[in-house]
Amino acid sequence: MCNCQDTLIPQIGVVTDICTETADVKTFRVEKIGGGKLFEHLPGQCAILSVPGKGEAIFSITSSPTNEKYMEFSIKRCGSITNFLHFDIEPGQQIAVRGPYGNHFPVEDKLKGKDLLFIAGGIGLAPLRSVINYMLDKRDDYGSIDVVYGARSKEDFVRYDELTNVWPVQKDTRVHLTIDRAQE
Ligand SMILES: Cc1cc2nc3c(=O)[nH]c(=O)nc-3n(C[C@H](O)[C@H](O)[C@H](O)COP(=O)(O)OP(=O)(O)OC[C@H]3O[C@@H](n4cnc5c(N)ncnc54)[C@H](O)[C@@H]3O)c2cc1C
Repeated sequence: MCNCQDTLIPQIGVVTDICTETADVKTFRVEKIGGGKLFEHLPGQCAILSVPGKGEAIFSITSSPTNEKYMEFSIKRCGSITNFLHFDIEPGQQIAVRGPYGNHFPVEDKLKGKDLLFIAGGIGLAPLRSVINYMLDKRDDYGSIDVVYGARSKEDFVRYDELTNVWPVQKDTRVHLTIDRAQE
């Protein structure tokens, strides 16, 4: 676990992959220079991404703490820094990251052995994805897992492949998707 003061020191991260999820959401993969995670976090925590001279904002660390190689952030374009990240950052470029910040879900005590229902809409899945993948990596520690996830349309689901091909095939795990307007 990080020393509290470490969370105030921006770490230099390299964007190693950018995945276009929807028309306005991209997932950014960030690693240390030379590889590996910048710092440890717990499921549900956030980090502040900064671009000097452009701005900064806080984002959920959407990858699971069990992922030792990198951190991921799913970012919805809605203003100045998020537009910059979407249009001006390319794989190989550096950004500053500091954290972790915020509370985490009690995955190691209160939630152990429980049947779990996760409900999210749109970009709101970002903090829960970290929790869900953590639990799936330690599947026997938890009861049944149900995920109810809503979006405006099929094209607005973030991590559609994971939702339809990865999570539902795990033991005692169901994903219930809903969209606002009927489509194929
Ligand atoms: C704990 C926490 C976790 C978060 N996690 C995530 C996450 O995982 N993913 C994610 O996408 N977001 C997340 N957010 C939200 C994220 O921090 C915001 O998206 C971010 O602050 C927006 O920054 P921005 O500079 O791009 O937008 P800003 O420029 O601050 O714009 C925000 C709003 O202001 C409006 N605006 C901007 N400029 C103007 C203008 N000139 N005139 C009028 N209106 C304007 C925009 O249209 C927008 O509605 C999280 C927030 C919190 C607090």
